[in-house]
Amino acid sequence: MTIDLHTHSTASDGLVAPEDLVRLAAETGLTVIALTDHDTTAGLGRAAAALPGGLTLVPGAEISCSVEVPGGSISLHVLAYLFDAAEPAFAAVRAQIREHRAVRARRMADRLAADGHPIHWERVAQLAAGTVGRPHIAAAMVEAGLVPTVAAAFTRDWIGAGGPYWVGKEQPDVWRTLRLIRDAGGVSVFAHPFASRRGVTVGPDVIEQMARAGLGGVEVDHPDHDADERSRLRGLAADLGLIVTGSSDFHGSSKPQGLAAETTSRESYERLVAAATGAAPLHGPSPT
Ligand code: AMP
Ligand code: ZN
Ligand code: FE
Ligand code: FE
Repeated sequence: MTIDLHTHSTASDGLVAPEDLVRLAAETGLTVIALTDHDTTAGLGRAAAALPGGLTLVPGAEISCSVEVPGGSISLHVLAYLFDAAEPAFAAVRAQIREHRAVRARRMADRLAADGHPIHWERVAQLAAGTVGRPHIAAAMVEAGLVPTVAAAFTRDWIGAGGPYWVGKEQPDVWRTLRLIRDAGGVSVFAHPFASRRGVTVGPDVIEQMARAGLGGVEVDHPDHDADERSRLRGLAADLGLIVTGSSDFHGSSKPQGLAAETTSRESYERLVAAATGAAPLHGPSPT
């Protein structure tokens, strides 16, 4: 089995449409793919309808949340798997995060425009078919010739954290997020916890607290983790009894990693499925 548990589609900031993503997954040789768009399940119906034979789809979402640590608030991503997407409390919070994201993206676009940069919110909104995020602003910036690459937009000169055009997200705290996922029958996995290249990260104490608050697993094998970060996380997961996952965090050509760049073991996958009560994995049509 080849299992990739973290991917994005055009329902958030991925560049590949949900139906193309599952086709690409089958071509790549994946047997299990989770679609985990930012703060939405909007792409899952389309992915499910196009599911090729032999491929299993794990419904999911990547939830933006925050945690208070000495010195301020840190943004985190928690992957939610196999929850009941219709459960109202969690569905309402996902909708709220998406609304805040739109307000915030508009603010960033307006700030750029106010400084005379040719960025228009209307264009950003066009580029975002679903959940809007900084990658859509970055794409508009590349298109306008402001920066040569999306990565160049994600620096402190522009929309990187602390940059002049960066606006923080309003998001639920991690404790509430973990509770919402569990109450909707889902399993939570802390996405790229030690990816220091992305900015400030939490310490092991926060992961221990999260485990006590119902966290199901940690994403150890992720393109943004170096060897040392992986080995520290693996040890922590063993100590805390957390499921270890590995995933590409595929976004399409905007990021270097392809589908299946990192994978999850069959044992971890089976533990994750067994821990969920909100939904079941979906299977492509059997050969007739
Ligand atoms: P947002 O959630 O709107 O703050 O945007 C964060 C998203 O941008 C995440 O999905 C990241 O994968 C993506 N991202 C963060 N840093 C970079 C980067 N340097 N280059 C491209 N994408 C990035
Ligand atoms: Zn993303
Ligand atoms: Fe993430
Ligand atoms: Fe992601």
